[in-house]
Amino acid sequence: MESRNNHDLAAGYSSSSTPPRRSICSNCNRPQPVCLCKFLPSPPIATKTKIIILQHPHESQHKLSTTPILTKCLLNATTIVNRRLKPGLSKLLDQSPHAVFLFPPTPHSSPPINISDLNITEDLVLIAFDGTWKHAKEMVRSSEEYLSRFARRVCLDIDESVEGGSIFDSELILRKEPHGGCVSTMEAVARCLRVMELDGAAVEEKLIGVLREMVRLQAGFLKPMNPRPKLLKSLKKQTSVTEDEN
Ligand SMILES: [Zn+2]
Repeated sequence: MESRNNHDLAAGYSSSSTPPRRSICSNCNRPQPVCLCKFLPSPPIATKTKIIILQHPHESQHKLSTTPILTKCLLNATTIVNRRLKPGLSKLLDQSPHAVFLFPPTPHSSPPINISDLNITEDLVLIAFDGTWKHAKEMVRSSEEYLSRFARRVCLDIDESVEGGSIFDSELILRKEPHGGCVSTMEAVARCLRVMELDGAAVEEKLIGVLREMVRLQAGFLKPMNPRPKLLKSLKKQTSVTEDEN
């Protein structure tokens, strides 16, 4: 992660005679044409919930990852780049706080609690996993022993039979998701905070607003490629694959 940031900064600030291939915003680390800074909440949103995102090392290389933007929007969100959670990575988690971790239902696991059915009587730590479906499964599996000491598993109440796999429009999808019901980390966290925060609806709305801008800018940037019909087609295909698995 650090090496990427250094690289981006170097590109943005380059003062040598060779002009930078493209200039990168030093705050949001995104190319200038898709800089999101003016849409980010200032100051960042202060939540009672502390958010920890375990990001797979491969994901931290992804230009379209929502996690760096999410942590800029939220005062209490921290990213840990690793393949698993274990003692020594987070002082907060090592204190065994009351926590929930977010992961969709899988065929061979006990069903998680729906986030909206969670009886929230205290401030919680929210743990989310950022990676491809395959990587996220691996991260959860190898973190479960540690997590079982203090965290309960929750899922979003997404109806996977809903077209697009999300109650949100497919316009919020940044890249091909492998599974009906998959949403970006930012959308998933926003939807949890809606339930977990006192003014959750307002927090969710702000985060989804930023995500919409991110998608809108990205779509404008990629316009000549016109990815929409293909994306929709592949979404339909994925939904039917999911149904077959069940
Ligand atoms: Zn920016």
